[in-house]
Amino acid sequence: MLIVKKFGGTSVANKERIFNVARRCIEDYQKGNDVVVVLSAMGKSTDELIAKAKDINPNPPKRELDMLVSVGEQISVSLMSMAMASLGVPSISLNAFQVAMHTTSDYTNARLKTIDTERIRNELDSRRIVIITGFQGIDKMDNVTTLGRGGSDTTAVALAAVLKADMCEIYTDVDGVFTADPRICANARKLDEITYDEMLELASLGAGVLHNRSVEMAKKYGVQLVVRSSLNTNEGTIVKEDAKMEKMLISGVACDKKTACIAVIGLQDQPGVAFKLFNHLANHNINVDVILQSVGRDGTKDISFTVDEDNVEEAVAVMERHRQTSLICDKIDVDRNIAKVSVVGAGMTSNAGVAAKMFEALYDAGINIKMISTSEIKITALIDRKYVDEAMRAVHDKFIVNR
Ligand code: ADP
Ligand code: ASP
Ligand code: MG
Repeated sequence: MLIVKKFGGTSVANKERIFNVARRCIEDYQKGNDVVVVLSAMGKSTDELIAKAKDINPNPPKRELDMLVSVGEQISVSLMSMAMASLGVPSISLNAFQVAMHTTSDYTNARLKTIDTERIRNELDSRRIVIITGFQGIDKMDNVTTLGRGGSDTTAVALAAVLKADMCEIYTDVDGVFTADPRICANARKLDEITYDEMLELASLGAGVLHNRSVEMAKKYGVQLVVRSSLNTNEGTIVKEDAKMEKMLISGVACDKKTACIAVIGLQDQPGVAFKLFNHLANHNINVDVILQSVGRDGTKDISFTVDEDNVEEAVAVMERHRQTSLICDKIDVDRNIAKVSVVGAGMTSNAGVAAKMFEALYDAGINIKMISTSEIKITALIDRKYVDEAMRAVHDKFIVNR
């Protein structure tokens, strides 16, 4: 069998944990399997590298930021190979350049395009464990890129897809995917199985346990994932196409604490205004999430929308640049203290009243809703960030604990 095993930052945070991971990988190797290991940077080292960059320059060039943060993964893979060598097992560490993992040039948020498997295959054929850096890639000019925070999951799934692996295991610091972040909702339940679609919604709405692109890719290439703990041997959560979900209306609750809201007040109420506004943002690769447009009055209207907190300065700068020409408005307001709380579940398509129930939970907790967005399988409420944990618990208790 060919097994891809990915370990996150906490799983390789120190010497003891590195040896723990080494032993788990060696166990599979000694059973005769081919083992490909994907690692994240140790502990919080990516955060520390970003802080170092911002200390030098609060707005560092993204290319250089990627050059810097990619170092974290290189430290883990080399140390891991040294650990395996000390245990007498042959292994080799490879970075994205050595593998030839090609991405787009969107620094800090690049997308994987192709992965060369030749080197990996050769190393596996020589009976080595192959340890590969997660998160990083190279573009067509050999610049170093990264896949976005949490992107090592995507590296692992992509490798599992191109190598046609028999298993792709994502090891982390919790026992699997829960009905909510177990660090916020102590009574969250572990799910045995979850569908790609529901996992994708949860991940996209802030459940950081899996990088959303990794789920997208798993679905596209039919890679079945197991999410489990590196600290025990409990069965994890299987992510696949047709999961046997318990008969639950809601599969999970997620939150995103990195949302900011921009309100453009007093735009002209005429055709093309929304197009111009969002086109300017799209041209700068700025993703917009929830959009709310007011009813027009006196020939003007307001448009509010949310963006990731990291993109807010750039978004405002882009709009300011066009304010005298294609984006005439009275003012641009920014609220950086927003959070998103969402409920996700395929069951809600055939059940009325889910939205009301969620709003009731927030009302009972005395939390005001600023904006609402819905799709077939999710409902999102934007709230004041300081109440986000409380909101999570209120909504989770309403749907999952006291259902
Ligand atoms: P790793 O470094 O292993 O990639 P992450 O910190 O990226 O770990 O992801 C694991 C974390 O995701 C958990 O510690 C947990 O706090 C958080 N999390 C958020 N939502 C969920 C959820 N629904 N189920 C499990 N964990 C979740
Ligand atoms: N080290 C990177 C991060 O902290 C990638 C990852 O952990 O998946 O975001
Ligand atoms: Mg992660």
